[in-house]
This record gives sequence, structure tokens and C-alpha cells, in this order.
Amino acid sequence: MSPETADAPTSLTTLTEDERLIRASVREFALAHVRPHVREMDEQARIPRTLIDGLFDLGVMGIEVPESYGGSGGRFFHAVLAVEELSRVDPSVGVLVDVQNTLVINAILRWGSSDQKSRLLPGLSAKRVGAYALSEAASGSDAFALQTRAKESGDGWTITGRKLWITNAHEADVFIVFATVNPEAGYKGITAFLVERGTPGFTVGRKEDKLGIRASSTCELILENCQVPTANVLGDVGKGYKVAIETLNEGRIGIGAQMVGLAIGALDHTTAYVKERKQFGKAIGDFQGVQFQIARAATDIEAARLLVYNSARLRDAGQPFLTEAAMGKLFSSEVAERVASLAVNLFGGNGFVKDYPVEKLYRDAKIGQIYEGTSNLQLQTIAKQILS
Ligand SMILES: Cc1cc2nc3c(=O)[nH]c(=O)nc-3n(C[C@H](O)[C@H](O)[C@H](O)COP(=O)(O)OP(=O)(O)OC[C@H]3O[C@@H](n4cnc5c(N)ncnc54)[C@H](O)[C@@H]3O)c2cc1C
Repeated sequence: MSPETADAPTSLTTLTEDERLIRASVREFALAHVRPHVREMDEQARIPRTLIDGLFDLGVMGIEVPESYGGSGGRFFHAVLAVEELSRVDPSVGVLVDVQNTLVINAILRWGSSDQKSRLLPGLSAKRVGAYALSEAASGSDAFALQTRAKESGDGWTITGRKLWITNAHEADVFIVFATVNPEAGYKGITAFLVERGTPGFTVGRKEDKLGIRASSTCELILENCQVPTANVLGDVGKGYKVAIETLNEGRIGIGAQMVGLAIGALDHTTAYVKERKQFGKAIGDFQGVQFQIARAATDIEAARLLVYNSARLRDAGQPFLTEAAMGKLFSSEVAERVASLAVNLFGGNGFVKDYPVEKLYRDAKIGQIYEGTSNLQLQTIAKQILS
């Protein structure tokens, strides 16, 4: 073999030793500690604290945090693997870990001062959950139309406004809150603040009653003259739009991983079921019509996974990944919905009831096309790159 071919890249899905280890440990954890609680968590719309503590102990709540701050010292790709494996069993647990790593910790690692890193990263790696608060009632896709206002006061800032749809808010202690310091400056007034639970003027409000990912908390945040010190400005004043854009560009790779995991989970359940369920005197999986549907679903999943892994590996290599990440999120969320829908179909009546796992995955799949940029917004990003 020539040196050139020896150096040629292998498949994107070929894992290194450390990647194999993290996948195996998260898979083992998900099967032992998440799977038994999936239905109960969906019904009760909550993730038990003991499970969250288990995720901290596993080391998946501070994957990219350097070991010197008490984290796992891993790479972004490790977070993608953890989110995929957890989402295969429960996408609500997947998104808890996703937001913690790909949005909150990612933003602090990239934009945080050394004081902010040493104050917050050890806690975020050991026991404190984080949340990322950009959206508001009147600003979703148009995120930079946000109205939450920060005014300079004394040696800090006073924040007033309301945030909506904030994942992890019920459990979180640390919130990245985006507010504008100058509405006239448009997006150039937006600033990111670190707000800790317990800060006077800060309240976590109503928890949404959702269609899917019900165990993942989604709450309103209320800030009424909430006083935060200057030391809690994340990045520069007026540069919050950069914090938001750059973290969300990466965060959506994690959502792609969540959707790939969900689709794999749905297909796992389905392949087991079609081998067992008999009609017309044989297993329904013996019918070519069923086999072809499963083959198409597996092909869809492989394509989605390649897109997601490619963008994650590009990100870790410091190469541009914006278009690839948008494609990965767009496609994997469509695949998740298609595969979960097929799972419901192939389970027949059993697919429509809560005694079987696939109706939940079908409900869970829908969120992939909405948060961290709707599918239309992903299409807009892709089109912009292609047509520019
Ligand atoms: C369960 C859940 C968890 C969430 N977690 C978080 C979180 O942790 N932090 C956070 O900040 N936000 C979070 N969000 C908010 C989420 O990011 C927004 O819901 C999403 O960005 C869409 O915004 P919107 O709901 O205001 O919809 P809108 O922006 O009103 O969009 C409605 C429809 O219009 C379409 N549309 C809008 N603009 C255009 C356009 N220019 N071209 C074509 N179509 C367009 C959209 O594609 C969509 O189909 C969460 C939402 C949910 C439901």
C-alpha cells in the first residue's frame, strides 16, 4: 500500500478508540438507567434528579470542559455521540445533554473570561445544569428582534424582559440570557449575560405542556429589574449576536445527532417487532413490502448520520461547517419524522398506543424541525451559501 492510500481517510463513521469508549459507556448507561424510566418520564413530564446526577457522574455534562476545570476534556464529536446514544433511548434526555454541552458550555468555553470559566465550568461539569435563553414570544426565527432590555446601572446591568421556550430551565442553575443594551442599534445592541438562579428579579416561570420531548423542561423566564454584575457579561457588550450565531451554528449539529439517535431507536424497535409479529402465517418482516420500507429507513438514517458526523468532524478540525450543519439538521429531522412514522405504521394498532414505545418517538420527532432554527431557516442558510 502506498503512503498516500495509507493516509486516506476512512469512513466518517469509523470511530477512534476514545470515540468507541464514550459510545459504549453512554449506550450502557442509557439502557440501564434511562430505558426503564422512559414512559414514566414522558407521563410525568420530568427527568428525575437521580438520572441527571447519573449523567454528571458519567461525565457527559461537561464533555468539552478541560480536565483542569473538572470536565471530561473531550471533543465536540464526543458530545454528538453522547446525544445520539441517549436520544436512541429517550430524546428528552438527549436534549438535556445537548443544550448543556453544545450551547451553554460551548459558549462559555469560547466567549467566557478566565474568571467566568473558573467560576462556572467546575459546577457545570459536576452538578449544575445550564440553559440558553434567546427566544421570546415575539422573536423566534427573527431572534435578533428580541425585546429583553439591559440597562447599565452602578457596576452592572439591570435586565428586564421575558424569555420563552427555554429548554432545561426547570432544572437549570446557570442561564445564558440574551438582551439588548440598545434597541436602536438592532442586532449590534444584543449582549449575552450569565444569570444564576437565585439572582433577585429572576424567576423561572410556567413549564410548557408539550406534544413531544415531554420530559425535557421548556419554561418561560421572567426578568424584572434583574441585577447582574459587569463580570457576568459573556463576550463583549453588543457582540451577543456573535455568541448566539456561533453557538447555534454548532448546536444544530447536536440536534441533528438527537434526530439520528431518535430514528435509530425507532428503527431498532421496528426491526425487533416485525420479526415477532405474525400475519398471514408468517412474520410481517418476511414480506418484501415491509423489508423494502425498512431498507429505505436504514438508508435514510445512514445518510443523515453521515451529514451530522461530517459537520461535527469539520467543526473539530476547525474547518467551515455552516452549510453542512444546516443540511444535517434539516435532513436528520425529516428522517426522524419519516422513520418514526413508519415505525407507528409497522406496529399497526400497537403503534398507536402508549404501551409500545414508538408513538412517543413519533411525537418526539416533530421538535427537530422547529428548535434551533426551523427547517425553513435551515433551507434559507443553505440557499444563501449556494446562491452567494
Ligand atoms: C420544545 C422547545 C424547546 C425550545 N428550546 C429553546 C431554548 O432552549 N432556547 C431558546 O432560545 N429557544 C428555544 N426554543 C424556541 C425555538 O428555537 C423557536 O420556537 C424556533 O426558533 C421558532 O420560532 P417561533 O416558535 O417563534 O416560530 P416562528 O419564527 O414564528 O415561525 C413560524 C413558522 O414561520 C416560518 N418562518 C418564519 N420566518 C420565516 C422566513 N423568513 N422564511 C420562511 N419561513 C419562515 C418558520 O419556519 C415556521 O414554520 C424552543 C422551542 C421549543 C418548542
